[in-house]
Amino acid sequence: MSDHPLDSGPFDRAAEVRANRQALTELRGRSDALFVAMWRNKSPVTRDDPPRPVMLSAVEAEPLLDEARSETFLGRLGERPVFSFALPNAGDFARHEVFAPRGDFNDLRMVGTVMRAEDAALLSYARGMNVWQRDHRFCGRCGGTTSSDEWGHVLVCTDCDTRHFPRTDPAMMALIERDDRILLARKPTFPPRMHSILAGFVEPGESLEASVRREVREEVGLDVTELRYVRSQPWPFPRSLMLGFVMRSPEGEIRLDDQELEAAGWYTREQIQAGDEIFVPPKFSLAGQLIGLWIDGDI
Ligand SMILES: [Zn+2]
Repeated sequence: MSDHPLDSGPFDRAAEVRANRQALTELRGRSDALFVAMWRNKSPVTRDDPPRPVMLSAVEAEPLLDEARSETFLGRLGERPVFSFALPNAGDFARHEVFAPRGDFNDLRMVGTVMRAEDAALLSYARGMNVWQRDHRFCGRCGGTTSSDEWGHVLVCTDCDTRHFPRTDPAMMALIERDDRILLARKPTFPPRMHSILAGFVEPGESLEASVRREVREEVGLDVTELRYVRSQPWPFPRSLMLGFVMRSPEGEIRLDDQELEAAGWYTREQIQAGDEIFVPPKFSLAGQLIGLWIDGDI
């Protein structure tokens, strides 16, 4: 099992096949092909513990594919080709005879925390592609409509021929250490008592390092040193790639200037592990993983 939830792990994306229409048509026609449905940004998962993705067979998927508004070749699971397709928002697919006996449509953001990492990763990939296709039905350059190419991996403008590729937005997470404590902060939108490390989006023309320094200064008024990259995690809500950094802030007072945070402070391992004063995000998220690595003395 991957220790990076939402990273597609052992699944083979088989990117070399995407542009080969003939090979893909053959894969699509195979009786052992598997299909992942998306409806209103959710995928069906079983009622098992842990829940598994409901993968449709070619026979089960066939009548639904006629209604699909997009279709994507995801790759291979072992030898079996895997496709995803998006059902129209209208209609009640939750009660459809193919899905209802096998599971429920769930938002990955809710169910991903309890799924096996590789299962969550597959749904994460399908969700990311689906959201990108939904949001790029029109060309950003000329406003023309786009059509799918490379079995869902490229959207081509039907007017100006611009080829649009799936987007990933880099965002960084900053674990700041001082005297055996780390800085944890609260946004007003967090659940009560939840605190996390700082996060922010990378801006155009900015290096990751510069982005980390700017965000930390903006949000808590501190300067940081010994900045070090730790690990990354895809976060398809809707299309981020989270990049985790650890750093030190030897001195200076916390200042909450920009209204984004309602509280921030330094917390020891004991305070975090006790969990009564505050709690931190689960390990499903990169923030939770970085905090866990720090508690274990691994970063
Ligand atoms: Zn265009």
